[in-house]
Amino acid sequence: MRFDVAIAGGGPAGSACALSLRTHAPALRVVELESSQYERPRLGESLPPIARQLLEHLGVFDAFRATASAQTFGTAAAWGRPRLVENDFVFYARGDGWHIDRAAFDAMLATEAAQRGATRMSGVSVRDAEHGRDGWRVMLSNGESLSARFLVDATGSASLATRACGAEVVAVDHLAGFGRFFDEGGDAADPRTIVESFADGWWYTAALPNGKRFAACMTDVDVAREMNLSDDAVWYASAATMPIIGPIIAGASKPGPLVGRSAESRYAEPPAGDDWLAVGDSASRFDPLSSQGIVKALRSGIFASYAIGDVLMRGDLRGIARYREFIRGEFASYMEARAKYYSEEQRWSDREFWLRRSG
Ligand SMILES: Cc1cc2nc3c(=O)[nH]c(=O)nc-3n(C[C@H](O)[C@H](O)[C@H](O)COP(=O)(O)OP(=O)(O)OC[C@H]3O[C@@H](n4cnc5c(N)ncnc54)[C@H](O)[C@@H]3O)c2cc1C
Repeated sequence: MRFDVAIAGGGPAGSACALSLRTHAPALRVVELESSQYERPRLGESLPPIARQLLEHLGVFDAFRATASAQTFGTAAAWGRPRLVENDFVFYARGDGWHIDRAAFDAMLATEAAQRGATRMSGVSVRDAEHGRDGWRVMLSNGESLSARFLVDATGSASLATRACGAEVVAVDHLAGFGRFFDEGGDAADPRTIVESFADGWWYTAALPNGKRFAACMTDVDVAREMNLSDDAVWYASAATMPIIGPIIAGASKPGPLVGRSAESRYAEPPAGDDWLAVGDSASRFDPLSSQGIVKALRSGIFASYAIGDVLMRGDLRGIARYREFIRGEFASYMEARAKYYSEEQRWSDREFWLRRSG
């Protein structure tokens, strides 16, 4: 139970870090600890075209193509106007995007990392991490503990290790998603993600592999509470008021339970120290409107592996400093893009949800 690198969390960020470490620093002993068995459906299902480059870089593109995925050629948004405007991937050099089965995608990445030599422990949660003289002692939910020279926090929203390392998690909004899967209602002929704004937020829906569909309403936590959005009947009634997405949801059947998830934009400060760092959503989280969460998670896992290799193989901390600046710069650019995109919707500029995002 002694490792060089312990990765807490086996989502896209944790597995990308494990995969990249196995390629770039194969002498390091890596363990990836994941609390689930990837048995439940996961949210976050659209992969933009640029994901291909990252998956190829990680050497898992063929394995990805073997999992359930549906090609998609763009998104369409009724944003700032009542009709849909296409954002066609055909205008991008990198080709198509995909809708994926997230649980299968995350499991595929973790399996690939294990096949390349990372130790995989799933069904085990990281309870806590303590900093000692010889590195980290990581306490597990099964009562065991392990030691590691370097700790990676890839626990997503939990930001578990980041907090244990004394970093602050700063939220810039309180966006939340209330959504559900439908077993039937995916339209193979129209696999676009469709976004439609309304007075208190926005809805989106996407056709998934195997004829499934996902639909969610995104708004602020306090607004959702006022709307009573976690109530099934209210959710359907609210969906029915949406001119474009309403009929799509009405045509979907075999609904799963309504799930609520925080989707607040936030960042960890600092995102890295000399012997720990945060990747993916633990380091910073973007609005799902950006469809950048998975790509960002993969990219940060790859960059993190370079910094970890430098410090553990050569005692060179400059990579860690570069990583910190990369995460901060990336979040600053995201905030500019977020402000620009939200300012394009002016129809409800006096409503709290939109006021909070103006300027
Ligand atoms: C409603 C919604 C829709 C979204 N839609 C999209 C989209 O269409 N496209 C997109 O790119 N992004 C989307 N996102 C964002 C995307 O899902 C995240 O950015 C992405 O999952 C981040 O990956 P990650 O590896 O950092 O974290 P996660 O995917 O959250 O993975 C964290 C992992 O850590 C594990 N874990 C947590 N705590 C512990 C612990 N204590 N011990 C061990 N393991 C632990 C979890 O089980 C999980 O496997 C969406 C998000 C939301 C909320």
